[in-house]
Amino acid sequence: MATDCLTQENVPNLFGSMVFNDDTMRTRLPKDTYRILKKSISQGTHLELDVANVVANAMKDWAVEKGATHFTHWFQPMTNITAEKHDSFISPSGNGKIIMEFSGKELVRGEPDASSFPSGGLRATFEARGYTVWDVTSYAFIKDGTLCIPTAFCSYGGEALDKKTPLLRSMEALDKQAIRILRLFGNTTAQRVITTVGPEQEYFLIDKEMYLKRPDLIYTGRTLFGARPPKGQELEDHYFGTLKPKVSAFMKDLDEELWKLGVYAKTKHNEVAPAQHELAPIFTTTNIATDHNQITMEIMKSVADRHGLACLLHEKPFAGINGSGKHNNWSISTDTGINLLEPGETPNENAQFLLFLVAVIKAVDKYQDLLRISAASAGNDHRLGANEAPPAIISMFLGEELTAILDAIESGTEYRGKEKCQVEIGVTTLPRFPKDTTDRNRTSPFAFTGNKFEFRMLGSAFSIAGPNIVLNTVVAEILREFADSLEKASDFKKDVAKLVKDTFHNHKRIVFNGNNYSDDWVTEAGKRGLSNLKNTVDALPAYISKNSIELFTQHNVLTEQEIHSRYEILREGYCKIINIEALTMVDMVKGEVVPACLEYQSELANLLIQKKTCGSYDNSLESHLLDKISKLSADLLKKLDVLEKAILESKEEHESLIAHASFYRDKVFTAISDLRLVVDELETLVARKYWPFPTYAELLYSVI
Ligand code: ADP
Ligand code: MG
Repeated sequence: MATDCLTQENVPNLFGSMVFNDDTMRTRLPKDTYRILKKSISQGTHLELDVANVVANAMKDWAVEKGATHFTHWFQPMTNITAEKHDSFISPSGNGKIIMEFSGKELVRGEPDASSFPSGGLRATFEARGYTVWDVTSYAFIKDGTLCIPTAFCSYGGEALDKKTPLLRSMEALDKQAIRILRLFGNTTAQRVITTVGPEQEYFLIDKEMYLKRPDLIYTGRTLFGARPPKGQELEDHYFGTLKPKVSAFMKDLDEELWKLGVYAKTKHNEVAPAQHELAPIFTTTNIATDHNQITMEIMKSVADRHGLACLLHEKPFAGINGSGKHNNWSISTDTGINLLEPGETPNENAQFLLFLVAVIKAVDKYQDLLRISAASAGNDHRLGANEAPPAIISMFLGEELTAILDAIESGTEYRGKEKCQVEIGVTTLPRFPKDTTDRNRTSPFAFTGNKFEFRMLGSAFSIAGPNIVLNTVVAEILREFADSLEKASDFKKDVAKLVKDTFHNHKRIVFNGNNYSDDWVTEAGKRGLSNLKNTVDALPAYISKNSIELFTQHNVLTEQEIHSRYEILREGYCKIINIEALTMVDMVKGEVVPACLEYQSELANLLIQKKTCGSYDNSLESHLLDKISKLSADLLKKLDVLEKAILESKEEHESLIAHASFYRDKVFTAISDLRLVVDELETLVARKYWPFPTYAELLYSVI
């Protein structure tokens, strides 16, 4: 439970108190062990079992002191959530007694049954074994009395069955290529290049009692129907508004829980939609940021529960109200702390900055379809292109100034900017980019914001691993091309200048600084030849394209088999989600909506009879209502029938797996949407006391 009062003194002590972090390691481990472990963390060297034994024992002592009784290998299977299987530390010591024990072997490796996790065909059920392997680069932590060891998860044959393994591989790929570029620019001090991420997380908070009355929220995470409330977000009075007491208490408790777990929870505020909020942490290494974002989503749910609330992480919990996304702020940095996407102080640094910048431009243009698929899900399909989130078209926002500089470089003219600062590749100006000049465009899917890029297409329920795997790998590939060519350069400066110029010239179609929500942009993007993959099914084929396979295999991020398995998991997951939505809808309509409509109709019909028997009263209201509800009920029956038929047909043999997914999109999902329209209209007609579910107004304004 929350500490009574958080102060300047206790917050620093609280922070990371449940994490076996560097400080704890240093104080708890023998010097030699600490040194070897640190080397393993920074250089990826192998850890011998005797060292692991010492670390495990120290970890266990620390965890037991903090009240832990169990440990678990904590991993990220191909769902968007984490997995854990708890084992206690107890070990029989004779005489019916026990001692608390934890061995190096248990720390380093686990063998959970892999057969019940999605594997996309990688692991046959008879080959159930899977391994979890300790990720030394992410600290162990205690959650709910259990010592959690962050791990990677792979099959018996060594194929990755999780999101962490390829993420680590993609970071390695980018490291390798970026270091080559840095060496060419004369940097001999950086040993590693890492990517950094700060993910902004949106979510909804609603009353738990109301949540429990909505099977659609419970089973699918979103409301499958609900008439528009009298007040939605049109007054724009929620964004950055004062926090309601219950929300504020939740946020305080959440901060505290996250701080204990070493998560840099920093910014919290109300979002655009009623009942919608956001949390942003301070950025950190991508791998840690990914672990922390998973922890954040989980803790949000558990803290909400404690406060009598339900936290909704679905991308579109309410139709007609903004959904939730996740902004993936991403940059590249050296281990010496230099942000490579920050314009530098010297001409040399600025040339380097421009080279990294055009590498990202080329990567985003060349691999736009892969970035698109990394942000695709049934849930996110509701948002992208719906004028509340970026369209399904990938483009980049650079801001006017930076675009003008690149234009000048391309045309060989001089850029006459406001602030002079030299760069040795033809232009004489390169300004610093104060954040406010570059961060104005909120409609762009991929925006440069002064010293980082903000990939804004992600859905709120996503693991950020997927999009970052793609981002890291596509940039690694372009840096490889650049390094291959520049390592052969006869005149380095001249060749860098030419590379920046040519790359921008060839890929500037991806740059768009205008309003991404406008129809004109859709037309314009079409003219520029940019992809517009409107939904998950359209985006899927890019995943297994020749381009994709070449890219991921070349950088050892995913094998061809792993790509196919991930594609299949995504495709199948999409079908399953729509299937669950369809079944939930049928169940709610038949079990609750239909009886409610009948009951109200019966009341109206009885009234009509009574009035008739009593004399000739005016019965226009009840007869009109009864007529309207009867007609709508007939329509309801028809639409329900269509949906049930579609569900049955979805079970039949389809031409191909992708055709099966298309069927879910075109037939099942469409039938869900059509049925919804009728139910929503009925909701406005049937007396409130008969309506079986909390309304949108109740759900959205329930937390005070
Ligand atoms: P916004 O205007 O989008 O709210 P903020 O300045 O609040 O932007 O930053 C959003 C996120 O970007 C924060 O999580 C922040 O830590 C992160 N961020 C800042 N610098 C970097 C960086 N170099 N790499 C990755 N993320 C960063
Ligand atoms: Mg942002």
